Amino acid sequence: MIIDFSRRILAALLRPPEHRAVVWPNGKRFAFTVVDDTDQSTLENILPIYSLLHRLNMPITKTAWVVPTLEPGEIDNRGDSLADPEYREFLLDLQGKGFEIGFHGARGGDARRKETEAALMKFRDVLGRYPRCHVNHFKNRENLYSGRDKLSFGPLRGLYRLFQKWDFEGHVEGSPYFWGDIAKKHVSYVRDFHYDEIDVRRIYPVLPYHDPNRPWVNFWYHASDGSNRESFVKLLRRPNLERLEEAGGLCIVYTHFGKGFCHDDAVDRAVADRLEDVAGRPGWFAPVGVILDFLRGELGEHTLTHSNRVFMELSWVVEKAFRGRT
Ligand SMILES: [Zn+2]
Repeated sequence: MIIDFSRRILAALLRPPEHRAVVWPNGKRFAFTVVDDTDQSTLENILPIYSLLHRLNMPITKTAWVVPTLEPGEIDNRGDSLADPEYREFLLDLQGKGFEIGFHGARGGDARRKETEAALMKFRDVLGRYPRCHVNHFKNRENLYSGRDKLSFGPLRGLYRLFQKWDFEGHVEGSPYFWGDIAKKHVSYVRDFHYDEIDVRRIYPVLPYHDPNRPWVNFWYHASDGSNRESFVKLLRRPNLERLEEAGGLCIVYTHFGKGFCHDDAVDRAVADRLEDVAGRPGWFAPVGVILDFLRGELGEHTLTHSNRVFMELSWVVEKAFRGRT
């Protein structure tokens, strides 16, 4: 309630674009996808959920690493990569079934330009094309516009800097970690903020969008927060799904299927129940790249103004400040 009220005030002050209804393909009532961040994913711990998604006819977007981590002490850097032949076959099989494979950097842990470049070429050799989608990983130094560099609003940048000291240089020309020009050439979409809201167009009605302050990324999109099993199940609870369907909305869940979504070779019961509920509704289920391509056609190519961006940033801050208190 406080969050909704604050967003209404921000909207009155900063005037984001008007919401325009979208007619989804094939008479579908809403659109739904998942972007799966590959942290901690191994073939064993994600196979059951991908089998379920295929059975439910829900081809989503799975991100991948190309080579194993050099820093396994950090648990979120661990997980299978394209260097593993069985995992590689699994990704190829998924792609053949209509799933999209995205990039999560060369590996869990920093990668210099040459390594990122080699990883993208390997990705193309194995999967037949460069990734169209990229998600930044944790504190990888080559992340594009992470940390304070994702913020445009001066006071917020300063505040953020007080709490978060990491530097990110994927977008900094001259840095050994720079790969912005390569991303610009091959990658269409990069994930931006995620919010505790099932319908991403209720947060900001136009996506994807270009941000002139972060020019090495072609288009950004924002997502719904289902980062872990609990938030995933909560986000996809029945009243939320009913509201999404009613509004003809769009849900892009950002999650980590490698972190406890399956146990003993089976999908967690609550997770399976929520996905089955989604699948039983008249939604358009497609990878994020396909949905964003469609939206660009429907809504046009959108460039953020400074006040548009400040609106998104302050909406995110308001949610961080008040989440759990309403
Ligand atoms: Zn990650």
